[in-house]
Amino acid sequence: MTIDVSRARTTAGIASLETAADVLAACDALAAISRSDSGIDRRYLTPEHAAANATTAAWLKAAGLHSWQDGAGNQWGRWCPKTLSSESEAPRLVIGSHLDSVPDAGRYDGILGVLLGVAALTHFQQRAEREGAGLPFALEVVGFGDEEGTRFGATLLGSHAIAGSWQPGWELLEDEEGISLGEALTAFGLSGQSAASASLQATPPLGYLEVHIEQGPVLEAENLALGTVTGIAGARRFAVNFAGQAGHAGTTPMALRQDALCAAAEWTLAVETLAREVQTGKRADMPDHSLVATVGCCELRPGAVNVIPGAAALSLDIRALDDAQRDRALEELLHQAHQIAERRGVTFRCEQTHAANAVACDEGLMQAVDIGIAATGQAPFRLPSGAGHDAMAVSHLCPVGMLFLRCERGISHHPAEAVTEADVARALAALIASIEAVAARYSC
Ligand SMILES: [Zn+2]
Repeated sequence: MTIDVSRARTTAGIASLETAADVLAACDALAAISRSDSGIDRRYLTPEHAAANATTAAWLKAAGLHSWQDGAGNQWGRWCPKTLSSESEAPRLVIGSHLDSVPDAGRYDGILGVLLGVAALTHFQQRAEREGAGLPFALEVVGFGDEEGTRFGATLLGSHAIAGSWQPGWELLEDEEGISLGEALTAFGLSGQSAASASLQATPPLGYLEVHIEQGPVLEAENLALGTVTGIAGARRFAVNFAGQAGHAGTTPMALRQDALCAAAEWTLAVETLAREVQTGKRADMPDHSLVATVGCCELRPGAVNVIPGAAALSLDIRALDDAQRDRALEELLHQAHQIAERRGVTFRCEQTHAANAVACDEGLMQAVDIGIAATGQAPFRLPSGAGHDAMAVSHLCPVGMLFLRCERGISHHPAEAVTEADVARALAALIASIEAVAARYSC
């Protein structure tokens, strides 16, 4: 299999990305690059990935900017002020996000952040040509090839590659058609070796700034367009089981039951109660209010209308900015689960299925983003990210910062994902002012 980029819309009729309207038109153009006719579906190392890279490169080149694809399939663009003596050795600030999507995706998750980065580089390039004004560092934009992990099951492959944390074992991961990641890299003209060599550990950038839709309802509830991200929550996930005794729903007296669902239900409410108490400040011993905990799945056995549930299989997802506090909350919940199980005569066991530590945003970059937001006339507002982002992997390479942009009703990973042109214009102005704030601090 070879990758055909003929589906690339080149510049899709957009000369270059200068305004919010251009950026939104470019989001529409990338949304048309999908393997499905009924929705957006753009996965790592596919013809659609190649086409999205080619289209993004065309917009960068149309603005007179250098663009290239790295060994992991991430697409880059660069603007270097003429005042910097050696282009390749110049310090650089990287702006970025991802160009891949989940199946049946919205058109802004990731993509908007990349294209706002392209617009910011275009702004500084044009301003330098017009006024000769530069920056004390080069600017780069990156469109990561894989953030969502929808093809091979492992997430953040593109950002792990540049952070130097590409794992050779990943090449054995297979997609739903049985194609390995190693084979997909080869078909894309790359290899495991080239992906590993995309690492920037030898020459780390001075920082990474990511613009992203919030994917949650907080900014909208606050009636604010923009927010400074304080950090990305660390998550732990568990497969949880309560096992009791299935029995006849008509003949077993209530006092003699070992109902697994009732135990699971009581514990699910305990999970909600603890997380609510922490979020509303009722737990003085847990001052990080970012804690969220969710029981998202519940499967009953045997699952019949006239049978007492004998087993309940649940999931638990628990996240917070403070890993230690999250783990204390988790311990408390597991203790409660054992108590509930004992009282109800059922057994409880759980197994961890995922663990990732929280990532704190850099204070200097947060201050720059605050200044960027203030420059748009909005009071700075800080909030944590409960969702994972490329900045998590990039934090192992350099300091990271993030600017969140309000999205309608917090909807994401869905075709109904929506932003307003006015908010995108504010985000672009805030990004440009944030970059200037980083430059002001850098020059001091
Ligand atoms: Zn995203």
